[in-house]
Amino acid sequence: MNKHVLIAFVILMFAGCRSSKVELPMAKRPLNVIFVVGDGMGLSQVTAGMYANDNEIELERCPVIGLIKTHASDDLITDSAAGATAFACGKKTYLGAIGVTKDTLACRNIFEMAKNRKMNTGLVVTSEIVHATPAAFFAHEPFRLSYENIAKDFMKSDMDLAVGGGLRYFRDRRDKKNLLPKLQDKGYYVRNWQTEFRKLNVPAEQKLLYFTDIDKPARKEKGRDYLPAATEFSMNFLNERSKAGFMLLVEGSQIDWGGHANDKDYVLTEMLDFNATLKKILDFAEEDGHTLVVITADHETGGLAIKRGSTTEDLNIKFSSGGHTGTMVPVFAYGPGSERFAGIYDNTEIFQKLREALGWKKGS
Ligand code: MG
Ligand code: ZN
Repeated sequence: MNKHVLIAFVILMFAGCRSSKVELPMAKRPLNVIFVVGDGMGLSQVTAGMYANDNEIELERCPVIGLIKTHASDDLITDSAAGATAFACGKKTYLGAIGVTKDTLACRNIFEMAKNRKMNTGLVVTSEIVHATPAAFFAHEPFRLSYENIAKDFMKSDMDLAVGGGLRYFRDRRDKKNLLPKLQDKGYYVRNWQTEFRKLNVPAEQKLLYFTDIDKPARKEKGRDYLPAATEFSMNFLNERSKAGFMLLVEGSQIDWGGHANDKDYVLTEMLDFNATLKKILDFAEEDGHTLVVITADHETGGLAIKRGSTTEDLNIKFSSGGHTGTMVPVFAYGPGSERFAGIYDNTEIFQKLREALGWKKGS
């Protein structure tokens, strides 16, 4: 090898090393975000679900763990409305507030911001679609129980997909207004999950409002089984239509209801259903490679304790409260941008961190 060729070769080798050194620390940006909420899911609920699942849980696949401070603007112990508004808008607000600040002013939420960037948005929940957690991602109402107003707000949201209960707030309303014809005019297919799943073919330009119940969906123990399948369906629905990525909210809504009822089997079956759903989500993200998954809770419910005498077959669980508690709750993150979610921070930071992970500029 002559001298010049050797020098050129050495320079090329160094150049190669240097460029790989530059590239390695650059975190990839996600294209899609799946935000997953276990309502009322504190660390004890996670642990109980893990023991009930033979000491394993899908959350173990997440390399990044954090903790959030859940308090509301007016109370150390939050509710799902203030908790979800913190996630959706990045603002601490009062108990019962849906997508409004503590002065009851509408705050722009992350789904609206995603829509401005041509992302597709959707939600899948095991509560009514108008219930507090999902509502904070499309509605702006001063009080969480004004379900008929929240359903009206849905009409303005431009959401591509919603799966959940609560058909009555859209169709059988006290004000006698049926919102469904108007939604169909706006390009929505309105369908019934129980009778039409797996037969459904939605044209690419149509949006989908997929009702799983007229009222509250049943608990898992009483035969509700759609969350894992509906989540898988929704990820594919949004992904197929997506030009600039998608943002999906998935909620295991009834972990909280089991906690309020101080009902151990209710909590455990909801946690197992949530875990089966997480498997679908993490499998999708693993295969896709461009999806950031963030899994957390709005607060803990029930003050659940796993007491002495427990075995994986028979947990000795006691509750210290019929309501929510103020303990910090865990955050689990997977995929590009997940490293931002380590540490201890306020629930409002989830909103900021999602924006930063997506590369959105401040104030836009
Ligand atoms: Mg909820
Ligand atoms: Zn609750």
